[in-house]
Amino acid sequence: MKNHYNLITIGSGPAGLAVLFYIKDSIPEQLRSKKFTTCILDKTKYPSGGLINDGKMNLTPYIGFDDFTDGRINLEEAWLNINYFDQIILRHGANPEVTGLDEQVIKYWKNKLEPYDLELIEETKQRHIGTDRSKALINSMRKELEESGIEFRLGEEVTQINKNKNGFELLVSKDGDNYTLTCNYLLIAPGRMGTQWFRHQLDQLNVDYKQLPVEVGVRVEMLYEDYPIAHEIRDPKIKMKNPTNGDRIKTFCTNPKGKIRLDMPEQAIYYKQHKLIMINGDGLRDENAQTSNTNFAILNKISLVDPEQDTEQYAIDLAIKTFRVGGWKPIVQRLEKFLDYRRSKLSDFTGRERVQPTIPIGAITPGDINIVYPARIVNNIKTILERLSKEMPNVIHPENLIYASEMKFQNIRVEVTNYLETNVKNLFVAGNGAGLSSGIVGAASNGILAAKGILEKL
Ligand SMILES: Cc1cc2nc3c(=O)[nH]c(=O)nc-3n(C[C@H](O)[C@H](O)[C@H](O)COP(=O)(O)OP(=O)(O)OC[C@H]3O[C@@H](n4cnc5c(N)ncnc54)[C@H](O)[C@@H]3O)c2cc1C
Repeated sequence: MKNHYNLITIGSGPAGLAVLFYIKDSIPEQLRSKKFTTCILDKTKYPSGGLINDGKMNLTPYIGFDDFTDGRINLEEAWLNINYFDQIILRHGANPEVTGLDEQVIKYWKNKLEPYDLELIEETKQRHIGTDRSKALINSMRKELEESGIEFRLGEEVTQINKNKNGFELLVSKDGDNYTLTCNYLLIAPGRMGTQWFRHQLDQLNVDYKQLPVEVGVRVEMLYEDYPIAHEIRDPKIKMKNPTNGDRIKTFCTNPKGKIRLDMPEQAIYYKQHKLIMINGDGLRDENAQTSNTNFAILNKISLVDPEQDTEQYAIDLAIKTFRVGGWKPIVQRLEKFLDYRRSKLSDFTGRERVQPTIPIGAITPGDINIVYPARIVNNIKTILERLSKEMPNVIHPENLIYASEMKFQNIRVEVTNYLETNVKNLFVAGNGAGLSSGIVGAASNGILAAKGILEKL
């Protein structure tokens, strides 16, 4: 394998993959003839980053799509980027069905929720890959890229980045070996879970960035029949502003007939010898694998300003507390106990027929979220659940389940040009870790823009 490339991309999530697809489509001959050399590097042994998960692709410029909402591109270009990435996903085997197009249904639910100050996001156009289908799709995407001359270097972790006269020098570690790679252009797309490492590199390289709010919350699980909005809108995103404290809370990542899952081990946070793996949810397309439950996240946005403080560290501190209470596992609680400030015990999970957890009880610990999360966050969670229950009463059925912690560690936003170049020449960033997107499609759009920026320089 080489040790010098024209372009190195760190991170094989949707942002990194989109960079390479766009480059492949733009300069196929240079890639084939090795006039332009490029590789994608990932510390995991399997490429894809967060694309391996549920894969609900929000096909809209209004959700998680900062290139448009920040004004880097206009609506027309936003749709071009969405369609470009969607075509890639489709030709690699994604489900052709698109949901969330029925305006009557959206209007119906919007009107139902409005009296309780719950705002349903109207943009719900979505393609769903499904956790059980994503591997085949990713294998096929990888094949296309490799056949065009792009190298995949997997299981290789970049530990340090230095700037040198001609570009960048990367210190890389693989299976205990350490070596150096160099490149003229560097794109870093490390995703959310790479943020601690990423931030350290940005500081070392004197890259400008700002603090962002972090999202801290829980995931709730109930019977599929008890959350009827998701029968008609697969992934409804509902926002609420708490009138008493002004906090912004939202439902996020709904998985009808899905499963609760833990994040991937590579996404864990380390505390001393403990690996803290957050709660998440899976949506499944295969009917045989589907469950009788629905789960969704409830997230609170937390900013720490005046004095400005590290929001990521705040969230990590909360996660450590939660995992300590759970014996270094996530916590699960019956909703009636959560609402009554009482701890759940193992006995709450035997002899109950109605709502069964879709994750083995051994992977989580019955406990009390109230003892960990601040009263303000608990109050926000209770308020949104109570409001949802006005239209869907069983949202607060006593047997429902509530899991902690679910957190979204996106706490910085890198200062970039419209083509995602940082204040360090030839250093580009993209995706969730850079605070420039918050979903698969938004991250992919970042990749397309960064690729254009790099191509312009050749
Ligand atoms: C369980 C789960 C379900 C999700 N479901 C959805 C969904 O349905 N719809 C949706 O839009 N979004 C979903 N997301 C979010 C989505 O995965 C992200 O928005 C998206 O993957 C972000 O893309 P990215 O390219 O910025 O980063 P990522 O996809 O996170 O990729 C970053 C990559 O960088 C690599 N990396 C980091 N640091 C280094 C380093 N030092 N050296 C080498 N490699 C490194 C990581 O290993 C990782 O593979 C989900 C996320 C999770 C965890």
